Amino acid sequence: MLVRRPDFGPKGTGRVGSCGPVAWVLGSEPPAFSIGYAEPMGTWDSGFTVIYQDAPEVEELEGIDGDGSELVCLHCLLDDDPEIGRGLDIAHEYGMADLDEHGAWVVGDLTRLD
Ligand SMILES: [Zn+2]
Repeated sequence: MLVRRPDFGPKGTGRVGSCGPVAWVLGSEPPAFSIGYAEPMGTWDSGFTVIYQDAPEVEELEGIDGDGSELVCLHCLLDDDPEIGRGLDIAHEYGMADLDEHGAWVVGDLTRLD
């Protein structure tokens, strides 16, 4: 299992133990292909949503809840999958990052969220 999943208690409660802010993660099978960023909901929230290739289909990236997403400490996630680092940077700056066909992170298509 690539992605460690700290015990945050019931999903969605956002309780964090000794770890840092969490990311919302969909799927677990690398590579991740899309990363979104939104204003964090609290100090426990990194604001990032990371979507892996085996993620379930989602209609939209906002308000994900109860559809298979999991809260994972962002630092642990990055530790396990350093490939997402550049994507996180881009998503933080532009709101969304996508992995292109060459395996490079590019600015994502925000119109998808409309
Ligand atoms: Zn951690």
